[in-house]
Amino acid sequence: MSDRGRGQTVLVLGGGVGGVATANRLRRRLDRRHRVVLVNREADFSFASSYLWVMSGQRRPDQVTRPLQRLQRRGIEVVIAEVRHIDPNKRTVTVDGRDLAADHLVVTLGADWVTDRVPGLADHGHTFATLPGAQKLAGELDGIERGRIVVVTAAPLYKCPGAPYEAALLIDAGLRARGIDPTTLSEEAVTASAAAAQPAAHAAAAVGEPLLMDATNPAPEA
Ligand SMILES: Cc1cc2nc3c(=O)[nH]c(=O)nc-3n(C[C@H](O)[C@H](O)[C@H](O)COP(=O)(O)OP(=O)(O)OC[C@H]3O[C@@H](n4cnc5c(N)ncnc54)[C@H](O)[C@@H]3O)c2cc1C
Repeated sequence: MSDRGRGQTVLVLGGGVGGVATANRLRRRLDRRHRVVLVNREADFSFASSYLWVMSGQRRPDQVTRPLQRLQRRGIEVVIAEVRHIDPNKRTVTVDGRDLAADHLVVTLGADWVTDRVPGLADHGHTFATLPGAQKLAGELDGIERGRIVVVTAAPLYKCPGAPYEAALLIDAGLRARGIDPTTLSEEAVTASAAAAQPAAHAAAAVGEPLLMDATNPAPEA
C-alpha cells in the first residue's frame, strides 16, 4: 500500500490542556484510518486553573478532574504511562519499558514544579501549582489562626501570571469568612510578591534555545 493510503499514527505526549485539545482536534479532522494516541502519566485530566479553588476549599479534586479514558469513546487511544525517552530518528517513544511507534509526534508535556533551585522551598513551601499541593495547602489554611502568609513567585518564570494575586485574594477572603481579620495577623498579613514576575515576557534569541534566567536578574538583554 502506498504511503498516501496507509493509516498513520499521531502520538500526543501529555494529557493536559494542550494535549487533550490537540488530540480532540486531530481526531475530528483526521480520517479514521489514522490513529491518535495520547500518553499521560496520570489517569485523570486535571484543570490547573481550578487548583486555586481547591486551595480555597471551593472545589473538591473530583470536580476539577476527569478520567482520560473517556477520550476512547471519541476514538482517541489513551496510554497511561510515563514517557521515558523520545527517539526522533527512529520515531519511537519509550514508555514504561516498551516502545510506541509514531509517524507524527506532538510534545505537550507542560512544565514541572521544581523546588531544588530555591533552598528551603521543598521543606517549608507550599504550592497551588499541583493538585496534591493545592489539597495540602487547603488543609494548612484551615488551621491558620495567626502568623503571616506570603505568596511568592520563586522564579521569574511560572505557569500563570495572575495566580499569585488570585491566591492572595482568595486566602484573604477565606480567612475573613472564618472570622479572622487578616490585618490582625500582621501589617501585611497576606501578601502577593511578584516583584520578578513578568513570566515569559521575553523569548530566547533563537527558537528552541533554552531560556535560562537568573532569578536575581530576571530581564536579560535581548
Ligand atoms: C494555579 C494555576 C492557575 C492557572 N490559571 C490559569 C488561567 O486562569 N488561565 C490560563 O489560561 N491558564 C492558567 N494557568 C496555566 C495553565 O494551567 C497552563 O498554561 C496549562 O495547564 C498548560 O497546559 P499544558 O498542556 O501545556 O501542560 P500541563 O497542563 O502541565 O500538562 C502536561 C501533562 O503532561 C504530563 N506529563 C509531563 N511529563 C510527563 C511524562 N514524562 N510522561 C507522561 N506524562 C507526562 C503531566 O502529568 C500533565 O498531565 C494556571 C496554572 C496554574 C498552576
